[in-house]
Parts: sequence; C-alpha cells; structure tokens
Amino acid sequence: MGKSSKDKRDLYYRKAKEEGYRARSAFKLLQLDEQFHFLDNVTRVVDLCAAPGSWSQVLSRRLFDDDTENNSSKRIVAVDLQPMFPIDNVTTIQADITHPKTLNKIMDLFEGEKADFVCSDGAPDVTGLHDLDEYVQQQLILSALQLTTCLLREGGVFVAKIFRGRDIDMLYSQLSFLFERVVCAKPRSSRGTSLESFIVCLGYRPPSDWKPRLDVNMSVEDFFQGCDIGRLTIDDEIPNYREEPRSIAEFISCGGLDSFDSDATYHDVPENTTALDPVQPPTNPPYKRALELKRQGKLTRAV
Ligand code: SAM
Repeated sequence: MGKSSKDKRDLYYRKAKEEGYRARSAFKLLQLDEQFHFLDNVTRVVDLCAAPGSWSQVLSRRLFDDDTENNSSKRIVAVDLQPMFPIDNVTTIQADITHPKTLNKIMDLFEGEKADFVCSDGAPDVTGLHDLDEYVQQQLILSALQLTTCLLREGGVFVAKIFRGRDIDMLYSQLSFLFERVVCAKPRSSRGTSLESFIVCLGYRPPSDWKPRLDVNMSVEDFFQGCDIGRLTIDDEIPNYREEPRSIAEFISCGGLDSFDSDATYHDVPENTTALDPVQPPTNPPYKRALELKRQGKLTRAV
C-alpha cells in the first residue's frame, strides 16, 4: 500500500492506513467475521497467501488483544510466496501453498494440534488470458483446500477468495461434501465491479472413512478420491455418467449498510488532509530493481 495524493484512492485505502493495516483487504475479513463470527473463540489459525499481512494483523488483534488469558495456547501461522515483515504473534513462512512440503512446515508449528480456522486470500499473477487465469485461481483454491483438509479440526471453518466464474457452482457442490454449510459472501469492502467473493465454509465434516494425505506425487483428483466430491475418476464408466448435481450456494452480502461502499472515492477529504505513509513498505516489489538503477543514475530512457 503506497502513498497517493491525499489518500484519495478510496475510503478503505485511507481507513486501512489510519487504523494501521498493511492493506485495505483487512476490512474484507473484518466484515466477513462481523457476519459469521468465525473468529470467536479460535486459538489456532492459518492464513494462506498472507502477504503483505493485513489479514494476519486482523487475526493477531482478534486473538491476542481481546483476551490476554491462555495466550500460550494460541498460534497464528501465515504463509506466502513473498517474504513478509514480522507481525506480532504471527509466525510467517515463505513457501508455496501448492507444494505438499508446505503442509509439514505448518504442521510442525502446530505440534500435532489441529487448526480452528484456515483462510486463503490467494491470487495468482494475472496473465490476461481469461481461461488460464481462471484455471490457475481454481488450482490455488484446490491447493488451499487440500492443505485445509489436513490441518482443520472437525467443525472448523475455511474461508477463501474466489472469482465467480463459469464453473463456480461445481466448486460449491464439491465443498458441500466436506462442510455443513457453504456460503458465498461479498463484503462491502470488496469492489462491486470485481467478480471477487469469498466462500465461507462452516463446520468441517470429512467423510468418516476418508483420511486426507498429501503426497508430492499425488494429483488433486487422487487426493479427493474417496471423499466423493463429485469428480469423475479414471475407473468410472463413461456410459454411467450422469450430470453431477450442482448446488447454488447461498449468497450473502455483508458489511452492514453503515459501512462504506467499496467503489466510493474520498470526495469529502478535508483540504488540509495530508497523505499518510504506508503502514509497511513492500518487501520485494517488482519495481525494486528499477528504483535501484534510478538511484544509481543508470536508468536512462532510450531515445
Ligand atoms: N490477505 C493478504 C492481506 O490481507 O495482506 C493479501 C493477499 S494478496 C491479495 C494475494 C497473495 O497471494 C500474494 O501475496 C501472493 O504472493 C500470494 N500467493 C499467490 N500464489 C501463491 C502460492 N502458490 N503460495 C503462496 N502464496 C501465494
């Protein structure tokens, strides 16, 4: 989150800086929790795709600021491909959530205990090729879900960012095999113009005869085999194929009518308002090399 003239970009952008959050996405998690109260009484949480860390900040404040008792049993683990600046009470891991070895790194930190809550705000780099972007995003959600099935306790909650594309109702029906209730939620702070939403999966209840097991050589299809999430397997006979039943997820818009609209800009910013400094400068921005060259006077424009 950089510095824009008088922080006019949007209300949540400025509000995030005022409240010390590294990104405006903090309000998405806050508004989802306002609706579902999934952060009440949780002690062990995993934040996947966490950088720069505003969700981890929300988690840290909720778990550690409200109640100073039993702090020793609380743990927050944040994972991202990017390095993250430290956050109080959060253990950060720089790792790829699509790699099975990441699971062991997280599990080691939980010392055999299960998590109460797993969230993923993951977004891959966009290529502009719509089908490819949608596919990569879906793979990221499946990877987050795979990790979640190995980490989450029964009754636990999983929240993940999705983009409502063509095949999204298939994902809802698949998730319904693993969770008691699956809701698609759009917080007010998520831009109305974006397809972004969040699946809120409440009450993890895997089939009793299915034990999730992550293995480097295992495909996603193999992983979910036996848990009946509605995929055809290599052993299925095609003539018996029938259209899989699809469910339409409950859709909830959350954040309250008194909260700001995400597409509102800061029209009423007082004249004497100054731009706020970033809460945390980016660790490894793509423009870092260009800035270094500019400082050294080596960035010249071709004539
Ligand atoms: N929730 C974060 C916050 O509030 O600060 C923002 C997350 S940002 C929208 C998406 C993140 O997903 C990026 O930091 C990116 O590095 C991460 N990401 C994308 N693919 C990943 C992967 N395979 N493994 C780990 N992190 C990944």
